[in-house]
Amino acid sequence: MIDPRASDGAGGRPIFRFAPSPNGYLHLGHAFSALLNFRWAKMAGGKFLLRIEDIDPERSRRPFEAALIEDLRWLGVDWDETPRRQSDHLAEYRQALEGLTQRGLAYPCFCSRGDIGQICATEVNWPRDPDGAFLYPGTCRALSPAERTERVAAGARWSLRLDMAKALSQFAQPLTYNEYHEGETGRIVVAQPELWGDALIGRRDVPASYHIACTLDDDAQGVTDVARGVDLEPVTGLHRLLQALLGLRTPRYRHHRLVLDGEGRKLSKSKAAQSLRDLRDGGVAAETIRADLSRLMKITL
Ligand code: GLU
Repeated sequence: MIDPRASDGAGGRPIFRFAPSPNGYLHLGHAFSALLNFRWAKMAGGKFLLRIEDIDPERSRRPFEAALIEDLRWLGVDWDETPRRQSDHLAEYRQALEGLTQRGLAYPCFCSRGDIGQICATEVNWPRDPDGAFLYPGTCRALSPAERTERVAAGARWSLRLDMAKALSQFAQPLTYNEYHEGETGRIVVAQPELWGDALIGRRDVPASYHIACTLDDDAQGVTDVARGVDLEPVTGLHRLLQALLGLRTPRYRHHRLVLDGEGRKLSKSKAAQSLRDLRDGGVAAETIRADLSRLMKITL
């Protein structure tokens, strides 16, 4: 449960947020996360915010945004401020990335996924990140400024990577954050951003990435409590490092369990988990969903 006294948000009020990507319809996993955030915010006398994470131009769709707003309202979840849409803030993300580049902490990478695979797949045990992708072999880290300028001028496509070793060398002590999971008591966790190697922090198509947009927005929105699925727990170390590099505040983290399907797998839009709208169209009431999720997850929603 949330201790209402453990607040450090603006005016002492905790601020929670739910941050879906509008690339499909919401399913029961989203409903659980949204209801949990909403309830915890209310219990703590705090605010609940909605953020639309739509920086992926290929997959984000306005009709999905409208649908998720409608579905959340139908569920009984409501927010305290106008939702923040990330595609409206690309200039801020670009500015932060440029700052990191100027400080020598980020560099342009011209490698495609295929290029990286060709190098790494030849080694039997090439290290992988927590998502299972090869750690970047560092090919473009060594390019000279002249080579970089030349390639960009020639029209080569590039993304931006964090120079992990350099970024870590900025801090004498390990970075930490407070993790609560679903409980009342936090524990200090040592962040492990190095698990991601030279992580991608700027995409080829937009001057942003989930990591940079999420950390900047949590700070900009004054978020004090990030409650999201445990599947995102491994990225938190990287977010903590970005916060430290950019002088941003670090919220409390409350990574919660995931709603699983009958075979114990996480629900996903791509695997066409049953959507809230299908359930609604099939005559299921919002109250039934809330009650069923509470029972299934053994937590009051
Ligand atoms: N947009 C992310 C998702 O839909 C959530 C990110 C977060 O809560 O930090 O999975």
